[in-house]
Amino acid sequence: MLRWTLNIGTYFNIPVRIHWSFLLILIYVSYISFSAGNNVEQTLIYICLVLSIFFCVLLHEYGHALSARRYGVETEDIILLPIGGMARLRSMPERPWHEIVVAVMGPVVNLIIAIIIYILLILYYRFDYAFILSLGELEMLNWTNFPIVLMQANIFLLLFNLIPCFPMDGGRILRAILAFKISRVKATKYATRIGQVMCLIFIAYGIYNSIWNLVLIGIVIFVSASMEYQHTFLNTHLKAVSCLDIAQKELHFVPEYQQISSVIQDLRATGLELFFVDTIEGHQSGVVSLKALEKKLNQDPGARVSDATVEKPVTVRDHWMVLDILQDLKFPESVAVVVSLENELKGILSKRMILQVLEGKK
Ligand SMILES: [Zn+2]
Repeated sequence: MLRWTLNIGTYFNIPVRIHWSFLLILIYVSYISFSAGNNVEQTLIYICLVLSIFFCVLLHEYGHALSARRYGVETEDIILLPIGGMARLRSMPERPWHEIVVAVMGPVVNLIIAIIIYILLILYYRFDYAFILSLGELEMLNWTNFPIVLMQANIFLLLFNLIPCFPMDGGRILRAILAFKISRVKATKYATRIGQVMCLIFIAYGIYNSIWNLVLIGIVIFVSASMEYQHTFLNTHLKAVSCLDIAQKELHFVPEYQQISSVIQDLRATGLELFFVDTIEGHQSGVVSLKALEKKLNQDPGARVSDATVEKPVTVRDHWMVLDILQDLKFPESVAVVVSLENELKGILSKRMILQVLEGKK
């Protein structure tokens, strides 16, 4: 989804990209305007409004990016999507206070824009409040009430982003506040749950009242909330863990031609989870887990060790970080052999063992 973006320049050392589907919004707005019987000028005003709102969204994202920079966190880029903007920070400031400031600075930008428009209107119309108020009663968008609509849009952006739904700004603020009292992982967990419940309320309300935009936004936020949770969870628990740290370092060999039934008692007695498998000539032919052997034995009492063996396990280096190899181990049964830089056998590691480490620390 993020690949189809167009670079529209680099400002404050942060590249700004725009997603191509953004064009669809402009086409959609023109279509709606023309089919409502509007002329070209009218349609142009609508397009200007959309562009101005997205410019405000961009400034909102710079609010996050530049405040993060103050805490030493750089921003990869800012992406403008039809559903809003996104500043992709390289990491998140870990201190709750810093995260609150970074999250708040986006909505603050919208507040400042709204206040500036308000002040300009008051000065321009020489404190004629009655006239300014009358502009708010929209019949049709025109150049006169355009600033009022833009001001309202900024107030909407301000309030919308402060809804405590992860990963929106309000959700981040909630997480940071919780993180003063409890661990960051737990805080993320609760903030995510609270946000997802709110998303479900949005979705239900949207379906009930046929507001499909709301349903869509609800689904998008719901999904990104769980992604963010996993991200935080993995980062916190596995950040500094190398493959060797959690690998099984005791190496136990079992011959591949043996019947499982004749070796299973001995293997259970070792208390180990993973074993290397030898050929009759003593060559290493693969790896096998106790779980796989037991499963095979249940299916076929006469099965041999070779029937449950993983012949080409993934090979990883002992100093590699567990976080980096997670993607290579696709299934809980996946196994990796851990070797040193000199190809010396150091240990053996399964995805299940990584998952157990995660669960143990929950
Ligand atoms: Zn924001």
